[in-house]
Amino acid sequence: MLPTSFRLTYLKSLAAVVVALAFCGAEARAQSRTIIVDAGHGGIDRGGVPGQRISEKEMTLDVSQRLRRILEASGYRVIMTRNSDVFVPLGQRTAIANSYRGATFVSVHFNSARRAGANGIETYYYRGDSAGLAANIHRNVVAIAPTENRGIRRRGYFVLRRTSIPGVLVECGFLTNPYEGRTILNAAYRQRLAEAIARGIRRQPAGYNKPLNPGSRASAEALPQAIAGPDFVRAAPRPRYRRTSRYHRSSRASRSRSRSTRQKSSRSKRTKKKRSSDNIQFIRTNAAFV
Ligand SMILES: [Zn+2]
Repeated sequence: MLPTSFRLTYLKSLAAVVVALAFCGAEARAQSRTIIVDAGHGGIDRGGVPGQRISEKEMTLDVSQRLRRILEASGYRVIMTRNSDVFVPLGQRTAIANSYRGATFVSVHFNSARRAGANGIETYYYRGDSAGLAANIHRNVVAIAPTENRGIRRRGYFVLRRTSIPGVLVECGFLTNPYEGRTILNAAYRQRLAEAIARGIRRQPAGYNKPLNPGSRASAEALPQAIAGPDFVRAAPRPRYRRTSRYHRSSRASRSRSRSTRQKSSRSKRTKKKRSSDNIQFIRTNAAFV
């Protein structure tokens, strides 16, 4: 029989360990249920292409605020990178995301193109651990969108590359497409978009998996386990018009880094136009990871 004092000490230590474990578990659960919702653009950065009729920054904020309400109602903690029409630099957005360890980053955007016929949903991720989330969000959004499934792509957008937590960027349709733009102007449809993104975050299966649109090039590469099914496409070179937006450029630092690499590697490359070099850099970045 152990002395009473020893037994008391032992029980106290045991209780402390149990309390600590319970706290850690609750903390981990709370963190994994923190979502950073990033409404694309804002303030002086209107988003989209020059002269675009429907403002991307307004649509992204509206869907993000709807997403926030839906997620909070489901018990998630939601942090918004912006909650009004203000300009938030990309570095500040990633700094906000990176200050919540264990959270998940979801960036909401709408697409634009000079070709009015372009339409549909695209979802992007960069980190390998974000592929499953990208697939879930993509399938859920595609299921409710009356437009094309343009696929899931891996690409090093600033907000995906510079976040140290899993992250996805979803392009919820083309504002420059007359039909899709009109659909997006409908508040009930934007609510459905937000609900679809939330279902993807909750990892609920999509009711309907729309096939990839015939124009997309199917990928023959080995895909991450998390992406099973027909909706993955290899990231094609980004058309020049898409690079007019601040969001879709690489960072100034990375641009200057890639410039210096190019200068070292080949003198002749200096003669190339900067934009086309940026495109080449993007393709290389992708090739290294997919
Ligand atoms: Zn955008």
